[in-house]
Amino acid sequence: MMKSVLKVTTSPARHWVGDGFPVRSLVSYTTDPEALSPFLLLDYAGPHVFAPADAPRGVGAHPHAGFETVTIVYDGEVAHRDSSGGGGTIGPGDVQWMTAGAGIVHEEMHSPAFTRTGGPFRMVQLWVNLPARDKKAAPGYQSIRDGDIPVAALPEGAGRVRVIAGEHAGLPGPARTFTPMSIRDIELVADAEVTLDLPGGHTTMLVVLSGHVTVNDDAGAGEAEVVHLGREGSTIRLRADGASRLLALTGEPIPEPVVGHGPFVLESEAALMAAFDDYRSGRFGRLAP
Ligand code: MN
Repeated sequence: MMKSVLKVTTSPARHWVGDGFPVRSLVSYTTDPEALSPFLLLDYAGPHVFAPADAPRGVGAHPHAGFETVTIVYDGEVAHRDSSGGGGTIGPGDVQWMTAGAGIVHEEMHSPAFTRTGGPFRMVQLWVNLPARDKKAAPGYQSIRDGDIPVAALPEGAGRVRVIAGEHAGLPGPARTFTPMSIRDIELVADAEVTLDLPGGHTTMLVVLSGHVTVNDDAGAGEAEVVHLGREGSTIRLRADGASRLLALTGEPIPEPVVGHGPFVLESEAALMAAFDDYRSGRFGRLAP
């Protein structure tokens, strides 16, 4: 059975996160958290060309709690450090999967090398919720290199799928997740037509990063637009109206309240207040100087 197209959301206005990330928030839990669950937010940063600079641009030390951030770099380099001791530099094709869990402090900056050279910059940051039972999970960091991500060829030369999480055609992705989900990074050649099998029962979104696709001969979406599909059914038809890049996200819904404020997403007002208290009391730790 085909999944139905629920709606297509258009590209929103750009805003700056710190001085390093010109983002469009393509998906946000502030409007309809139940429909998006387990996903909370998706920021698409760039495409943008940065001039060479001396001082790294980005976002200085700030906290998160109760969920995970997944950063996928397409162009440029991001350097990360956090209070759990995690850190590293990720470049094109690399993914950083950070579990904020009980609470973390981190900074997200352009790498020193990218700062010096400047150039094109493009990345995605996805926020994935944790179920209440795992919101106090120890903070952690998975560094997933481009070479760790398996690539499946689509039939008839239609393109390729990088399997970041979950599985595609029996090929498992490397990310460890708390609840069932899949993240496919899909490249389609111009005029490609392809049928994808996606999990039934999962919240399902197609995030178009570049190009233009038509879904089920029904709905079209271009750059920075999102096709929201029904949970029922397990196949979709895609046609690429030009070379296209998209993310296919699927996840089992977490049937719990979503109570967020700024960088914290908990399951109740009381838990949210407790997270703020923990942060102010220094219990998230701190970045090494
Ligand atoms: Mn952050």
